[in-house]
Amino acid sequence: MRLAHNPKAFSELPKPTTEAPLRILMSACMMGQGCGVDGTDYGMGGALSWLKANNRVHIVHFCPEAHSMGIPRTMPDLHGGDGRDFWKGQAKVLDESGAELSEQMAEGAKAMLAFAKEQRVQLCVLTDMSAACGTQVIADGCRFDQPRAYRKGMGVAAAALSAAGFLVLAQRDHKSLGRLRAMIEPGFLAPEGLLDHHAHPWVVENLGYSDVHFG
Ligand code: SF4
Repeated sequence: MRLAHNPKAFSELPKPTTEAPLRILMSACMMGQGCGVDGTDYGMGGALSWLKANNRVHIVHFCPEAHSMGIPRTMPDLHGGDGRDFWKGQAKVLDESGAELSEQMAEGAKAMLAFAKEQRVQLCVLTDMSAACGTQVIADGCRFDQPRAYRKGMGVAAAALSAAGFLVLAQRDHKSLGRLRAMIEPGFLAPEGLLDHHAHPWVVENLGYSDVHFG
């Protein structure tokens, strides 16, 4: 597994330029694509506008769920573990009616991984909480159950990308994204005190992450 949250991971990337921009794979909903279960972008299209506008990055996008299940579709969630457990056969994906979608989720994740390889992606910026794209926090079982339960861990596609050596980040990883912004925006200084998602006090308190380490 490769973690983009480690400052060393960024220092090992080539310095992005306009001639050789950093190649980023983004969750398609974050690029404003209507690929959510209900045909919307979940309101994610406005996220990270500073990144999308920068000419030192080249962004490609993919939705693993829409690829294998189309739009609209039922809501897939992980049961019994996270995406890493899924690939070990220890967790499965069900929708809100209990129908199993494991095969479809695996198909979408494999397609996203193949796309990342084809596009020679250097960093993935993914939508957290998704059973496919989540990187640190996902729903624990069906997200429509009340109260909604969360678990630490990755979605199915994020786990496949990470296991294959791709660096993955969530849009909520403000500290790491600050490092990225400093790499691509001359003169930008990330403010002190930014936190990655796994270091957010709620996540640390409720999901058992340490405040500094991911895993
Ligand atoms: S699977 Fe990923 S890209 Fe597709 S809608 Fe969900 S979070 Fe967005």
